[in-house]
Amino acid sequence: MAYWKSEALCLRVLDWRETSHIVTWFSRERGKIATVAKGARRRGSRLFGVLDPLVRAELVCYRRAGTTGLHTLCELEIRDTFREARREACRLHAALYVLELLREATAEEDPHPRLYDLAVRALGRLARNRTYNPLTIMVFEVLALAELGRLPELSRCVQCGREAAAAAAWPLLAELGGLVCPDCAARLPGACGDRQVLAPQARAALRALAAGPEQAGTLALGPAALAAMRGALDASLAAYLGRPLRLARYLAR
Ligand SMILES: [Zn+2]
Repeated sequence: MAYWKSEALCLRVLDWRETSHIVTWFSRERGKIATVAKGARRRGSRLFGVLDPLVRAELVCYRRAGTTGLHTLCELEIRDTFREARREACRLHAALYVLELLREATAEEDPHPRLYDLAVRALGRLARNRTYNPLTIMVFEVLALAELGRLPELSRCVQCGREAAAAAAWPLLAELGGLVCPDCAARLPGACGDRQVLAPQARAALRALAAGPEQAGTLALGPAALAAMRGALDASLAAYLGRPLRLARYLAR
């Protein structure tokens, strides 16, 4: 038997057979991982009633050496449940959105410790801050996209390389990976008028978030800039995943 330990966030809990669960985790050391929690639905099991999405725990699991099937969850020690984030619908949706992003944007057993740390930090903020701040999730998304190598280019045209002037409002074409200058946009097939233009303030704010989460507290953004940032992030994630994230539309604006 090959035993391993890791801290992990619970992404999803499904019933399995009569008495067990299949639990998907995003673990710090091993990335996304599916475990079977044998007997966890039986009263008296030490896993009964503790497996829940959002739980952060220290896991001990094993898998028979040389096999590729499910890991078996042997022990877990709860570290956090982010209980306060569940008290308000908008904070709960945001927390579940973090889990959906981790689940959809990562492959099984592909470790991303930094992404794990970013998710834990975002969930901690959602639990601590009584007023929902949309930048909490945007910081996570920007840094997650950077970690996954899919942060859109926000400084220059992805077609010709021309640098965007500070006041330039260029379209962001997520499927091409970033900003496109008006000259290049005009040469691309499709109607340019339909393309979402990223206003300079929203572009500058996204770049500031990419530079570090501490920037988020210093930004004063109106509803139009926040909506443009939300649109750019939704489009960038949808371009990466091939479809929008299901919970994106429930995020409070
Ligand atoms: Zn160009």
